[in-house]
Amino acid sequence: MESEKKILAGAAPALPRAIIRAVITILGLALYWQLGMQDLHSLAKAAAFSLIANAGLAGLQLLRCGRTLVAGLAMALNSLVLLNAAVEGFLFWLYGLAPKNIVVADALLGSNANEAREFIETYWLHLSLVTLLVAALIALLYWVERKLGRAAGEEALANRRDRWLGTGMLALFAALHLNATMAEENPLVYWPGYFMDYQQQRVFLAGVKRKVASDLAAAQAYAAAYVGPPRQTLVLVLGESVNRSNWSLYGYQRNTTPGLLARRGDMLVFRNVLSSDAATVQSLLKMLTPATLDSPDAWLTEPNVLALARTAGYRVTWLSNQEMGDGPIQIMAEHAHEQVFVNKGHGRAARSLDERLLPHLARVLGDPAPRKLVIVHMQGAHLRYDLRYPPAFDRFSGADDAVDDALDEAGRPYWIRTARNQYDNAMLYTDHVLSSILEKAGQAEPAGPVSVLYVSDHGQEVGHYRNFAGHSSTDPSGYQVPLLLWTNRRSQRQAPLPGIEGREYRTDHLDHTLLGLLGIQTHFYQPRHDILSPQFTRLDGSSGQP
Ligand SMILES: [Zn+2]
Repeated sequence: MESEKKILAGAAPALPRAIIRAVITILGLALYWQLGMQDLHSLAKAAAFSLIANAGLAGLQLLRCGRTLVAGLAMALNSLVLLNAAVEGFLFWLYGLAPKNIVVADALLGSNANEAREFIETYWLHLSLVTLLVAALIALLYWVERKLGRAAGEEALANRRDRWLGTGMLALFAALHLNATMAEENPLVYWPGYFMDYQQQRVFLAGVKRKVASDLAAAQAYAAAYVGPPRQTLVLVLGESVNRSNWSLYGYQRNTTPGLLARRGDMLVFRNVLSSDAATVQSLLKMLTPATLDSPDAWLTEPNVLALARTAGYRVTWLSNQEMGDGPIQIMAEHAHEQVFVNKGHGRAARSLDERLLPHLARVLGDPAPRKLVIVHMQGAHLRYDLRYPPAFDRFSGADDAVDDALDEAGRPYWIRTARNQYDNAMLYTDHVLSSILEKAGQAEPAGPVSVLYVSDHGQEVGHYRNFAGHSSTDPSGYQVPLLLWTNRRSQRQAPLPGIEGREYRTDHLDHTLLGLLGIQTHFYQPRHDILSPQFTRLDGSSGQP
């Protein structure tokens, strides 16, 4: 009895205090959320961090680290969490971008004194309001901390159970840092990382500029010449995570591509195309550059399609709904005369619908430049599937149909079937966006030959072969991609080569197909790798796919 009482006397003040501190901080975060400074997702992460961090401090108190020290640390920690969330929220309100975005980082870390003064002069009212709010919350923390200090009784020596409990709670707080996402909630981890990321991005982008300049110079040496009609437009649409076996255009039981089916007669629909890789960067890099599975580094030394197109007199535009600064993809984008990134959130974690690209495409198609290459990089069906379509396209959630029955029979659990339904909703929405792109291409003025080539960067496994949803380098579903060509060119529409749609192709050779479509003559172009060429030959070997 005696010892039990002592244990309670030791543990009891530490835990309620931790809870009181965490509750105040979380209430403050919830207030930010109510004011529109934070979204629910960020609120949840910051709240979880605050709870575990305060528990860690309670652990320190149980280990008898000294009440004043713990109180000081608690003040510092909770104030930092509140300040951090306010800064992030303010930046998002100001720029509509996540703080890590290079645009925000540039404004934050790359500004000179003059720019900083102008900034304060413009936003002094907002800055003062946010500062006042944070100051009020920190004052509340301080007041509560003083109350808690006064109410504190005698501190007994730590007993065994306190030591175990205290060590456990501290360990939990430390373990939280093993998860990169949660570790970033710690301001003391986030901001140094932020600064280093920014420096790295600057170095990377400086390297990109040099690489682009040398690529363009190298492309000159390849003497890329344009052979074709005076006007020419190619829209290359890069899909994301689209498995063709989920399209009704390819025989899927669900009606996921009504728009494309209605245009079936105007398109070449290739049935046997595989991506070279199951991940975005590796796959796209090989599509747009001489890199292949056999020589993956060729893109470093030989010019890519964008550089060759520029040399041959094309105006090149890069429209993207993906994140800016994504390694080699950014290098490709930098080759364009114009880049537009419409995704203002945190890349793939953001709900940024692909239709945002359409007005930009319409504008670029109306550009008077005689030769245009437009790359449209979609968000497609990248995880999370449920973020990839608006409510109007939620057609398959809870569906009780042949597809669901087949999944059920194959023993797929509920969560996989739910993922499949959401994935198919994303397919339906992709069909809508692609149909809109084809419609815009058909209406393009000034007219001239216009082609739209669509291909996905890689496939996706969504319960096709196993209980898994996501990128897969071990299932065929990870590589089965759609490849479509729509064109208003009469020659190709009226007399396609016999059997052309059944050609077996791998997308690391797509650069040759693109050069053919662009009418670019260079000794670098190999017609046997151009899926549209009469001289096409089937790829030998089976490297790269399961
Ligand atoms: Zn991808």
